[in-house]
Amino acid sequence: MALRLVCTDFDGTLLPGIEEENRSISSEFFACLDRLRKQEGAVWVINTGRPWESLRLEFEQRGFPYWPDWVVLGEREVYRIDRRIPIPHRAWNQRSAELHRHLFAATLPLWKRLRQFLRHETKAVYQDAEWSPLEILASDAAEADRIHATILDWIASFPDLSVQRNFEGFRFSHREIHKGSALEAVQKEIGFDASSTLAAGDHHNDLPMLDRRYAAFLTCPANAIPEVKARVRDQGGYLAGLPASRGIAQALSRFGI
Ligand SMILES: [Mg+2]
Repeated sequence: MALRLVCTDFDGTLLPGIEEENRSISSEFFACLDRLRKQEGAVWVINTGRPWESLRLEFEQRGFPYWPDWVVLGEREVYRIDRRIPIPHRAWNQRSAELHRHLFAATLPLWKRLRQFLRHETKAVYQDAEWSPLEILASDAAEADRIHATILDWIASFPDLSVQRNFEGFRFSHREIHKGSALEAVQKEIGFDASSTLAAGDHHNDLPMLDRRYAAFLTCPANAIPEVKARVRDQGGYLAGLPASRGIAQALSRFGI
């Protein structure tokens, strides 16, 4: 089956982390993807936790030779990109907003308890944000691990609630809304399914889409966290030997061309 839908996370999967000297996205990645676009009519989705404005700035400042066809923002909202303008998938985004509104209203005591924990027992910064009653940034990786364990323990009694972790950052969401289900929403719109889809990610919040239910072709760059590598490996995916976009170019070469 030809590869016709390429779904990539952005930070860490295409864009190297801030610790890297060279933070460019490799021309080889764009060349591989462009061949697939021309030969197979492939569609590119960037599936990220970022909001649109910060993503758009990256596209512009880094001089992307072309932009994705679709984006998933905040690990939940789906947009088609038309002449560099994001056009919302209204039905999906409204359902997501409604599910979250009800869920977050029904879990108020948890947010109070978590704020007290963060204030008194951590150095994390946190705020009430557009997509989540709490967005948390731990002060370092060890603290993030401790906060993550506490959150997982406390949300166990709220079966509809899940947490998305990306490095030291945390955001909450409904268990049905994540990068995987958002990718599926794109697939339904464009008429491609898992059998022609590649998913690429590097961190915790990518785990839901790194699933053969959503993508027959799974991959991660060399810098992916061990949990992601294990998930990709266990499902017969491809662990790239190179980091970030250079690794995803390897995967596209292997799977697609
Ligand atoms: Mg990432």
